[in-house]
Amino acid sequence: MSEMPYSYDAPVSQALFDRAAAVTPGGVNSPVRAFRAVGGTPRFMVSGSGPYLTDADGREYVDLVCSWGPMILGHAHPEVLAAVQDAVARGTSFGTPGEGEVALAEEMVERIEPLEQVRLVSSGTEATMSAIRLARGFTRRTKVIKFAGCYHGHVDSLLASAGSGVATFALPDTPGVTGAQAGDTIVLPYNDLEAVQEAFHRHPGEIACVITEASPGNMGVVPPLPGFNQGLKDACATNGALYISDEVMTGFRTSRAGWYGIDGVKPDLMTFGKVMGGGFPAAAFGGRADVMAHLAPAGPVYQAGTLSGNPVATAAGLAQLRLLDDAAYDKINAVSQQIQALVSEALSKEGVAHTLQSASNMFSVFFTDRAVRNYEDAKAQQSFRFTAFFHSLLANGVYLPPSSFESWFVSTAHDERAVQRIADALPAAARAAAEATAA
Ligand code: PLP
Repeated sequence: MSEMPYSYDAPVSQALFDRAAAVTPGGVNSPVRAFRAVGGTPRFMVSGSGPYLTDADGREYVDLVCSWGPMILGHAHPEVLAAVQDAVARGTSFGTPGEGEVALAEEMVERIEPLEQVRLVSSGTEATMSAIRLARGFTRRTKVIKFAGCYHGHVDSLLASAGSGVATFALPDTPGVTGAQAGDTIVLPYNDLEAVQEAFHRHPGEIACVITEASPGNMGVVPPLPGFNQGLKDACATNGALYISDEVMTGFRTSRAGWYGIDGVKPDLMTFGKVMGGGFPAAAFGGRADVMAHLAPAGPVYQAGTLSGNPVATAAGLAQLRLLDDAAYDKINAVSQQIQALVSEALSKEGVAHTLQSASNMFSVFFTDRAVRNYEDAKAQQSFRFTAFFHSLLANGVYLPPSSFESWFVSTAHDERAVQRIADALPAAARAAAEATAA
């Protein structure tokens, strides 16, 4: 296969992208999909099967994005599809309570001890937005602490110094967010407990909550230093604030009980999405029953949704969760480690400075030889090397997240054949990274 520097060689995807750009801003429905950070034509995918995606030009890729996390069993898993087909055949939305949403909530509560009650919503953004509103309603305080480089969805007050697409495009702030909304958000450097103590000291009785990614994956993978999450929890408890652990990305991915299953730090509130929806729009927030009791209709804090607890989405999510036993996580962790080792070996062979960071089976490569502990460290990497690395892998049938500020994701479906494909593509990609020069 001929290697083009920016992989524009995708005529059907390009034609679709041109059509899309006429009717949709930037041609996409979520910014990072547009490939702006890496250049080239975004691939329009037409089907997925196990660890593979096929694009509109008929090329197959090993998928290391997995829909940004949800497809933890691979694409078109037969048991998930069967559950969806069964649900669809009975109707797609009733706007009434249904058994599926109860069963999904029960499965989540059973897995995660601090999750006494949950409320289902349709996106991670809704989950974090609602959790913040509830924390403010419960504490009757206004200010929120978040960390630079952590992304919690496109909630107005949480877009200050966010990761993910906001990091990818280096947007300093987003027009459309008012000064009042941003003014109630205190943005601190990640992994810096002193900064947290100081913020509580400066704003006595004003801080409703601290929200943090349980283990961040939106500035690349930057796990909490030992004691950081516990320190947040303790600072919140001492100062009458709530500790909100955003597990939209890590929940049911990093272990059976998400990141809580790994660090055991008990949040007051938690947020979920991605894996729990089995590839459909389902998300949730929940936690302490006495806090959740403030939510309508039990309490005064309003929150609602036409499609919340949708029967098809809950059927998909429940089927996926029920297949995620300890053996499944062992398998995902093993394949993740195998791929990490291959990546590191290929880059080392070409003398490319890099740091591989992981949180359970989530991982990412930073093109720097220094450990990355916060957003400033992440931004200091040589992203131009990622661009070359990305395009070489794409041209050779491996689909990475199109940004150096994102986690890579694997699934139970990533078998030896898929891993071999990655191994075959890596030497050229590492060479491309080595030869890359800053623009
Ligand atoms: N929180 C975290 C940690 C996320 O990674 C994301 C999305 O990537 C969100 C919240 C927002 O979720 P959604 O894209 O479903 O709105």
